[in-house]
Amino acid sequence: MGKIAIDRERCKGCQLCLITCPKKMIRLAEDFNDKGFHFVLFENSGECTGCTMCGQICPDMAIEVFK
Ligand code: SF4
Ligand code: SF4
Repeated sequence: MGKIAIDRERCKGCQLCLITCPKKMIRLAEDFNDKGFHFVLFENSGECTGCTMCGQICPDMAIEVFK
């Protein structure tokens, strides 16, 4: 089991992590961050494996993965 922490102020809403997560645990927020981008949220349904794929794909290093 794993979990992630998303730094919403680093996120630019590119959605690469959202597309990459095999468990579909990341979604786009309706709100904006201080830079005016939609950020993404972690929907923890307990299925995160800590695979780190979301953190690896993020070009802005906005995701930290915990196992
Ligand atoms: S670590 Fe893996 S399972 Fe967990 S949110 Fe990221 S991509 Fe999804
Ligand atoms: S890959 Fe990074 S910048 Fe892109 S939506 Fe996910 S957290 Fe935000």
